[in-house]
Amino acid sequence: MPPSLQPPRVRFAPSPTGFLHVGNARTALYNWLFARHTGGAFLLRIEDTDLDRSEVRHEKQLMEDLLWLGIDWDEGPGVEGPHAPYRQSERLGIYREHTDRLLAEGKAYRCFCTTEQLEEERREAAAAHKPQVYSGRCRNLSDADSAARASRGEPFAVRLRIPDHPLRFHDIVRGVVEFPNETVSDPILVRSSGMPVYNYVVTLDDALMEITHVIRGDDHISNTPKQVAIYEAFGWKPPEFAHLSTILGSDRERLSKRHGATSVASFREMGILPEALVNYLALLGWGAEGGTRELFSREELVKEFRLERVTASPAIFDWEKLHWLNRHYLKAADPERIAELAWSYFAAAGFLAPRDEASPAAAVDAWFGRLLALFLPSANQLDELPAKAAFVFRFDPATAHANDENAALLATESAPKVLAAFAARVAAHAGSVNPEQFKTWMNEIKVETGAKGKDLFHPVRIAITGSHSGPEFDKLIPVLEDGSQLELPVHVLGVRERIEQFMGSVMGGGQ
Ligand code: GLU
Repeated sequence: MPPSLQPPRVRFAPSPTGFLHVGNARTALYNWLFARHTGGAFLLRIEDTDLDRSEVRHEKQLMEDLLWLGIDWDEGPGVEGPHAPYRQSERLGIYREHTDRLLAEGKAYRCFCTTEQLEEERREAAAAHKPQVYSGRCRNLSDADSAARASRGEPFAVRLRIPDHPLRFHDIVRGVVEFPNETVSDPILVRSSGMPVYNYVVTLDDALMEITHVIRGDDHISNTPKQVAIYEAFGWKPPEFAHLSTILGSDRERLSKRHGATSVASFREMGILPEALVNYLALLGWGAEGGTRELFSREELVKEFRLERVTASPAIFDWEKLHWLNRHYLKAADPERIAELAWSYFAAAGFLAPRDEASPAAAVDAWFGRLLALFLPSANQLDELPAKAAFVFRFDPATAHANDENAALLATESAPKVLAAFAARVAAHAGSVNPEQFKTWMNEIKVETGAKGKDLFHPVRIAITGSHSGPEFDKLIPVLEDGSQLELPVHVLGVRERIEQFMGSVMGGGQ
């Protein structure tokens, strides 16, 4: 097959030195979408040559986060494939062979300069306001000299001989990018410790793994000319590049921890759904042809995604949009799945028993589903739910009075009359209160007291929930009444207990 007809091969190449952050997750997603759209292959390569900072637990977490987002790899750790191993720490022998080849062909040379010498060069260049590039002192050592010094055991780094012409590459997002060769100088490929550097191994691996498109963050754009020079030294054709713009916070500073959560793991912990995050990340620097459309399922993204539609301007992280998408997906998702996810937040708040201890009684399960339906529509993320539903589990009449707005609503002339009439009806009623009963009472109380609208309903709502706003009574009342019949870690009060406690607190001077 001619090369142009071969399916594309792309890779995501994280360094396992920390959590998977928004920027890298977007890079992984764009690579994955591109591969799935074109029928190409998506590789995962672990760049762990920085042994001091790389950790196995980060590698595991990275893979877990990717899979949570639904980003699976065709080749990589755990899958393997024709270019294994996919961990750079396991490829050192491959790198060594290639270094020997470059040295033998004169494309690279041994550099015996000491750290002190290089430091002094840098200081002098800085003082003379010249670019701080390597002087090339060891560039012209004779082969015999160089070999002799090496065999005497003198430590050396290996440097690439940068060609005498500008270094140019094509970037799908930015067009042709050119760097004058002087600004690149002769980069180190292998340190005197014997460890190869990022620019070198990334290039070797991309070439050996037959990567056709390098899609990554634009923080690597200044590395690219060095990488292009390495391709050239080996006589290999460079891939296409696509450098993705930086992600900024709302203050237009580079997105960082200062802006709140930025790791995929923390989004998951907050109760952002993976489909919402995928949809959101896709829009962070990309848009479909000719439209302002923002909702995309995974399948639609795969169908619509084109690298040509990726924008070069920085993307601004917008919590409001992420929340809007999450609300959409929370509503669209299978309620059972959401209930299972939401359960853990209620368990953490002490409202429910941990779900894995024993499978919940069917009655609790069904009740919890109805409880969720009350609060889910107003939740941006699942971790907000226990606070919204707290009054169901923890009813405190005193705090109901403490709120100024509540106090004002309770201070109206009609409020005590409405509450007394309501309390009297509950007291005289046997059995649980149902929504029809409640409606009848409220109509009667309206006639009896002359109160209507918020004067009628707000005092009752405050007495039952502690707040003047909340879910509709006809859904809320059965949840409170049925909840009071269940075995839960905290006892849910029914309407009767609530109004009794509230009236008691009024009598006790709560007002
Ligand atoms: N390991 C590099 C990083 O995490 C990969 C850069 C690249 O994609 O070339 O930034």
